[in-house]
Amino acid sequence: MIVVLKDSATAENVQRVKDYIINKGAQVHESEGIEKKIIGIIGNKREMDKTALSAFPGVEQVISILEPYKLSSRKFHPKNTIIDVKGVLIGGTEPVHMAGPCSVESEAQIFEIAAEVAAKGGHILRGGVFKPRSSPYSFQGMGVEGAKWLYEAGKAHDLPVVSEVMEINDIETLYDYVDIFQVGARNMQHFKLLKALGKTDKPVLLKRGMSATLNEFLMSAEYILSEGNEKVILCERGIRTFVQHTRNTFDVNIVPALKNLSHLPILVDPSHATGKTELVSPITLAGLAAGADGFIIEVHPRPYEAFSDGDQSLDFDQYSQLLSDLNILREGILTLRKQKLEKVELECI
Ligand code: PEP
Ligand code: MN
Repeated sequence: MIVVLKDSATAENVQRVKDYIINKGAQVHESEGIEKKIIGIIGNKREMDKTALSAFPGVEQVISILEPYKLSSRKFHPKNTIIDVKGVLIGGTEPVHMAGPCSVESEAQIFEIAAEVAAKGGHILRGGVFKPRSSPYSFQGMGVEGAKWLYEAGKAHDLPVVSEVMEINDIETLYDYVDIFQVGARNMQHFKLLKALGKTDKPVLLKRGMSATLNEFLMSAEYILSEGNEKVILCERGIRTFVQHTRNTFDVNIVPALKNLSHLPILVDPSHATGKTELVSPITLAGLAAGADGFIIEVHPRPYEAFSDGDQSLDFDQYSQLLSDLNILREGILTLRKQKLEKVELECI
């Protein structure tokens, strides 16, 4: 439920409404709407008396919310969330550009790629060190040593870094080396991991599970948000369908759908969404045209030598080609983004 307050509501009026909600065993979430101040109610729906709440002085309207997600909902939080990662704004006018290898393989490899990403105007360096592989016999990642190389490579080129955590212990292990924690598709519903990430102060890049509905995706975001971490970045990385011509199916629909329903930024990952190098550029463009706040792609100087995901990694020439394709659409995308951002209020965290 949401309580919309009158412009004339006094601090005392607001406090009485909040006390009533808390006494009923529910939680209060206060937010400034575009025009109105609102109080979101979380939990204990059965106990809440809509008629009684409507009668409180200062209350304009009480609205029932049918969606199960609350803190990630635009109804609860009308302002767009912009996440500031060391000066890189995720959700602002400029679409964010994240690139790097699937896996950090060696110090030399990640330094070579970091230099390229920086030279190409990338904003954030990616690189997995704990890898969620389908086979236990496949390369499992370089672990904490790889995280140190990733951190140093990012530092050398002034690029914040993102890397995946697969279990709760990884949070502490990677804390000093990464700027954004990534939750992979396979762990989107690892609820204990999500709760633990909710207690940290670093942004979380939450990838959509391969068969997750929009509601399930936002409920996973809710696990992080409800523990107090507001810095959640959503990421569409393709879903499992019957098609066999691509590794996954890029669900472009979810980008504008999420933008309508949620205030959180959303990125696209065309590398995992397609599994094919030649499809990465067109799908990046499609994602941005649909309103994504940026993209995360896999880049490797010699994809044929990559320890993981070589088939979907761009070499440096293909990476240049993607950026020049993107440049053709750049003005149009920026104009669209500016128009959309003008219609909402923004909150940079
Ligand atoms: C990755 O980013 O390398 C990765 C494993 O992604 P996903 O969880 O989307 O498969
Ligand atoms: Mn990968």
